[in-house]
Amino acid sequence: MAGFAGGGVSSRESLLATVRWPRPALLEQPLPLKGKAAEAAESLGLGSVGQLLEYPPRARREGRTVAALGPGETATVIVEVRSISSRPVHRRGMRAIVEATVADETGPMVATFFNQPWLASRYPPGTRLVLHGKYEARNRFRVATHARTEEASEAGEDVAHYAASEGLSSTQILALVREFRPAIAEVGEPLPARLRAAERLPARAAAVEALHFGVQERDVEAGRRRLAFEELLLLQLGLLRRRLLRRGDAHGVALDAPPSLSARWLETSLPFTLTGDQQAAIAEITQELAGAIPAQRLLMGEVGSGKTVVALHAMLRAVESGAQAALMAPTETLAEQHFATIQRLLGGEPVTLALLTGSTPAARRAEILGRLQSGELSMLVGTHALIEEPVRFRKLALVVVDEQHRFGVRQRAALDAKAPAGLAPHVLHMTATPIPRTLALCNYGDLDQTRLRELPARRQPIATHLVSGTRARARAYERIAEELHAGRQAFVVCPLVEQSDEPASGELRAATAEFERLRAGELRDFRVVLIHGQMAHREKQAAMAAFAAGEADVLVATTVIEVGIDVPNATVMLIENAERFGISQLHQLRGRVGRGEHAALCLLCGPKDSPRLAALAAHGDGFELAEIDLQLRKEGELIGTRQSGLSQFRFASLPQDEGLLLSARAWAARLIERDPALEQPENVLLAPAIAARYPEISARTMLA
Ligand code: ADP
Ligand code: MG
Repeated sequence: MAGFAGGGVSSRESLLATVRWPRPALLEQPLPLKGKAAEAAESLGLGSVGQLLEYPPRARREGRTVAALGPGETATVIVEVRSISSRPVHRRGMRAIVEATVADETGPMVATFFNQPWLASRYPPGTRLVLHGKYEARNRFRVATHARTEEASEAGEDVAHYAASEGLSSTQILALVREFRPAIAEVGEPLPARLRAAERLPARAAAVEALHFGVQERDVEAGRRRLAFEELLLLQLGLLRRRLLRRGDAHGVALDAPPSLSARWLETSLPFTLTGDQQAAIAEITQELAGAIPAQRLLMGEVGSGKTVVALHAMLRAVESGAQAALMAPTETLAEQHFATIQRLLGGEPVTLALLTGSTPAARRAEILGRLQSGELSMLVGTHALIEEPVRFRKLALVVVDEQHRFGVRQRAALDAKAPAGLAPHVLHMTATPIPRTLALCNYGDLDQTRLRELPARRQPIATHLVSGTRARARAYERIAEELHAGRQAFVVCPLVEQSDEPASGELRAATAEFERLRAGELRDFRVVLIHGQMAHREKQAAMAAFAAGEADVLVATTVIEVGIDVPNATVMLIENAERFGISQLHQLRGRVGRGEHAALCLLCGPKDSPRLAALAAHGDGFELAEIDLQLRKEGELIGTRQSGLSQFRFASLPQDEGLLLSARAWAARLIERDPALEQPENVLLAPAIAARYPEISARTMLA
């Protein structure tokens, strides 16, 4: 194989390639498959020779030679047919058998094929075959899958295994890859030579070659890394270009007036001091808003981390600069909550503020729209209702978007249209989901990012313990009883509503059964209530109200309590079958306690050796936990990109490839800075490569 670093195509060869242009048509050729196999290939995304060559093997197995096979071993071998014959079928019900003497350099064996009598004529002596199957006693090889291959191979060469599909086996894919191996030479090189040299990346063709045929593990890995780097670089380039284009088109309102209102608000109206993270976020955002480039920032922080305070400060900057600000929430309830929070946080500050949702009465709505248009109203909180057509602002400069996982192009355009002609609003996206750094770069790499990690000092840390076994469980109920006797309240969370909810649910605790058991058993001295998703709305409300008012001591619940319950007097939560929940869900759940002045406790019932439960016991920081969660996922299980609708990575795997991602990001930033349109000769192949690999980003780039 060609050497790697610096071992690109020689200039003579590249000249030849130019002369032979357009040879890459070879890569666009459809695969020579018919019927079922063609359908299967289609489903695997293997339409053309080029796509086949970019289909990464799932694993590599040690290549086997005939002589080395042991009885009972399942293996792939590459052999040549010496003789072949179909054994006649004498009786009905007997399976047709084709027997072939096949051999490699180490010796012969007898391969048997069942129920495919036509093979005797299809694979005449001299045919080279890839066979996958089981080696049995008496030097017989029972073939499971087989394919013709033209390529000669060294005895015992490692073979790649591919994710297969019904109708197209890994062996057939391997044979196809071997057949089209010469086309690898046509694989083009989109990366600038300078970058490849600096990062010591093999040429693309060499990487593809190594991926399928690499002999040394480190060559295979070097090839994979090279392709992973490219995939990450193209994504980051696409994201940064999208950001750039958006900025290039539009100007924002520079919010640079003296901080008359916001400074006074911080000093006198706000009833607490800001956390360090809040201060840093406010400083960063204030500076950004003062510029004419419309901000596009993601503000991440867990529930209670104080995002609203940071967002409100930005909104006040708009107001004191003579402009308007809006906050958009995904649901009416959330909009109402934000409205109430903002009113409370504003204290006595004279800021005109209104709430606009789908259920705002017509007369009120008309009044709000009038005051918005005249500029009399400075701040508007609402749902999507506020970007609908009839809503007109006099001078909208800032929009805060809560938990709206990146709204679409249409909504974004509607939002931009609300700003004065020729201007785009600054946009601050808020999310309470702590997103690991690597995923945030891939999913939100076109946004600047700010994190609030530090929870306001008033929040109580939540001591989290693992409860395993009967003794520990008895002790857990004692601890709960202690809290209850001290006047506090408790949650008990179960994974199921009823025992019969799931097949084989015997091991799982159900809320209804646990409710009955506890109020007659361990917690019989206390007032226990039940809440779950299958209860009538009225019943649920009654249970919640009783618990919130302190009329119930214990709330036995399913995960319905995950959202929107705030009972500061609740100090302990016991979670049954905690191993059934995800890390982030458990972290969210336990956030229901520790909201008051008393120390809080979370008891996780589950297996002693669960690394996820151990992580929860050890860490209270949601961002830290999100990173651990990502680490603990099975290698190759790619998440995150799926959520945002981006194509999954083919070669990269996060968080393992974090280093590659960071360097790809740095390169992308540098390339875009020096050549924003990617039009310099060494960069011209990048834009088409981005468009081919990530059509969804490029399309949005055009629209944004
Ligand atoms: P988030 O929007 O991130 O969930 P909020 O901004 O709504 O958080 O703040 C949650 C609660 O904590 C609010 O009641 C808020 O008044 C309070 N809070 C915010 N920042 C601080 C702080 N630095 N110190 C004390 N309390 C704070
Ligand atoms: Mg909030």
